[in-house]
Amino acid sequence: MRYRPSSPPDGGRIPVTILGATGAVGQRFVERLARHPWFRIASLCASNRSAGNTYQQATDWIMDSPIPPNIAGMQVRECTPDVPGSIAFSALDSSVAGELEETFAENGYAVVSNARNHRMDPDVPLLIPEVNSDHLRIIRQQRYEAGCIITNPNCSTVGIVMALKPLLDKFGIELVDVTTLQAASGAGNPGVSSNRLIDNTIPTIDGETAKIETEPLKLLGEFRDGAIHPADMRISAQVNRVPVRDGHTANIKLKLRAHASPEDVRQALEAYESPLASLNLPSAPGRPLRTSRDPSFPQPYFHRNAGGGMAVSVGPVTPCNVLDYKFAVLSHNTVRGAAGAAILNAELLVRSKLLSLLRQ
Ligand code: NAP
Repeated sequence: MRYRPSSPPDGGRIPVTILGATGAVGQRFVERLARHPWFRIASLCASNRSAGNTYQQATDWIMDSPIPPNIAGMQVRECTPDVPGSIAFSALDSSVAGELEETFAENGYAVVSNARNHRMDPDVPLLIPEVNSDHLRIIRQQRYEAGCIITNPNCSTVGIVMALKPLLDKFGIELVDVTTLQAASGAGNPGVSSNRLIDNTIPTIDGETAKIETEPLKLLGEFRDGAIHPADMRISAQVNRVPVRDGHTANIKLKLRAHASPEDVRQALEAYESPLASLNLPSAPGRPLRTSRDPSFPQPYFHRNAGGGMAVSVGPVTPCNVLDYKFAVLSHNTVRGAAGAAILNAELLVRSKLLSLLRQ
């Protein structure tokens, strides 16, 4: 992963902590934050099973690159709100994330979370910076004095919504029918047992269907009169776990509100430009959507790392006999769907100066 060149904000690199640093997403945070131009890992936290060990001892490291040498020897701490860092990136298991994240926000940390617990709270922004950066302002309504909670969507939702956004803006969307093929790493570490996943597909993932059917409505909703008004569309989802290591595919069919030819739809996706270009955020991909008219595109093994894992790959648009159009979307689930997304959210928070405003 190479970041876009960008100088640290005034005052130098910001100290951060990672909650749940030992898990699949926590490791992705460590990998990406160890070389981040704006942030510096000041502490690493996990459960009391890991606390007291070095990061190397506590972690079953599953990334492709080695553990960053300056991190391997750091001592893992318990998740208590006195650890060094002003931003707390959360990769906590959802069984504990809800309460711990609130405790950190109450104690002045900006909690930037991957967990599902607070995503649908009315005063918590569920963010994809390219799609709804204006929703970030709702943190001013949170009850915390100096801290806040912001969240990124479910790992499949993010790719789906990034592909829907230009079509919603141009033509309106009435119905979406989506079927996902989700990678093994989406189930955490160690995740699904190999005996259950090799030579197999599993047509259920706990809680996933509901997230894909509801989160896009908030993400694509309008921030008006101090509240987020959900988008007016219906989504039906079916999910599958498949024996792919990283990279979630979503096969999308949709019905538009306005008439559009196949070429209109293709061009809307191909012409989509990042609204973040002028902000110079280190993790923002230059082109958020990578499109191709090749019928064999996209494939997880070859395309999940597009844009350093932050770009979403969209295959050819073809007419659908049931709804209007269909196409496939691929995104990296632990990068764009988790750690990379949260880091981009934190970059937006810093750039928007909302973090310093909260602390005045
Ligand atoms: P994981 O591999 O199971 O890791 C869970 C982490 O939570 C570990 O660091 C674990 O620490 C820590 N933890 C568990 N119980 C704890 C406790 N009582 N107190 C403090 N820490 C505790 O899970 P994951 O896949 O990384 O997912 C992390 C979060 O991100 C989840 O909420 C998940 O839903 C969400 N998410 C995951 C993905 C993905 O693609 N994997 C994508 C988007 C969002 P120990 O090692 O000490 O047990």
